[in-house]
Amino acid sequence: MITKAMKGILLKIRSSKTAFWSGVALLIINPPLGWVGFLIGGYLSAKYENPKYMFIATIIYAITWGMAGMGLLLAGPKGVALAQNFFKKISAKVFHRSGNIDEKNINNNRNTSNSTDIEQNREEIASERVWGKAPFLLISWLAYITLALFLMATFYLAEPRLFQISHTAAYIVGAIFAIAIITLGGGLLLITLTSITGMDLLYPHGKTQITMRILPPVVYLLGTSIFRLDKDKLRESFVAVSNALFWAQAIKNRFSAKRLLILLPHCIQWHKCPWKITWSIENCRKCNKCPLGKLVDLHGKSGISIYVATGGTVARRVVMEARPTMILAVACPRDLSEGMVDVYPIPVYGILLSRPNGPCFDTYLEIEKVRKFLKIFRPDVYSLTENW
Ligand code: SF4
Repeated sequence: MITKAMKGILLKIRSSKTAFWSGVALLIINPPLGWVGFLIGGYLSAKYENPKYMFIATIIYAITWGMAGMGLLLAGPKGVALAQNFFKKISAKVFHRSGNIDEKNINNNRNTSNSTDIEQNREEIASERVWGKAPFLLISWLAYITLALFLMATFYLAEPRLFQISHTAAYIVGAIFAIAIITLGGGLLLITLTSITGMDLLYPHGKTQITMRILPPVVYLLGTSIFRLDKDKLRESFVAVSNALFWAQAIKNRFSAKRLLILLPHCIQWHKCPWKITWSIENCRKCNKCPLGKLVDLHGKSGISIYVATGGTVARRVVMEARPTMILAVACPRDLSEGMVDVYPIPVYGILLSRPNGPCFDTYLEIEKVRKFLKIFRPDVYSLTENW
């Protein structure tokens, strides 16, 4: 309901041409404004030995984040692409890199067929009847703005006392606060842009990003306590964002599925099955009363391992032992969202379980999603799935 309402509001806002171009203008103006303001504030602060200039600069910088967010909402992915193109052209002129943009694009798209395949399948695989990315991203920005304002207010109130103690201490504390605000904001902006546009703007690639570890608990706390949202729905939204980041990076071939781990929950097994498969899936007798009957043949094939975990602790141990290069995880919103944070930065694609019989009882996996995933990342074993 809320996602639909949000989408409706967004569509209405974006339907106006003025709104679109205003959004593009905000996206173009905010980076130079933020950085120039920050540099001038830093310069004045150092020259007059007064941290108030730094404080004002930080406020300007925080406002430019708001401008970026507003620009994103107004202009949408098309506007982001236009603004990016604008900056590319400017930087090409400034650094005399004429003609490089097109060549770069061609080089970046060297694996076009694979990228197209991924693009085509992304929407199909991710077509889940669950919350999308918007709630998680919106509450993340709200949390970030609240935190940034809190840090700025704290510094503003503590600054006279800090100066009485020591000028150096005041500068160090101010710098720490500023770095925290910039790092978290930068990380969140990259996550937002990547998950909305599908372009991999994350940096550093494949490294642990502090923002992605910090955000989920803060968003769940804010979302449930202030907006009274369902925690599981927020977790679904987090999984949608995580999956979007996964695909954006997969298109750029940043991952290898050489050692692919498929992690399944024990509740996927038919409740009357007499065979214990939590330690070894090979005990399955392939009666096909549950999805394991089809999946079992993949276990042990060319670097693919399949494990059925009874809980988060077992899943973590399995990941440590298998040392996978990629994980396909199937679980409920809670286990999936927690697991994705735990194993970060190992790339994880998450598939949410269907629970037609209630939680943890004869749960259901849309096996077709696994097939499509294998078709892209492990075409060498795809033939084994033809009879599924
Ligand atoms: S497919 Fe395997 S795990 Fe599932 S019910 Fe049949 S024997 Fe048990």
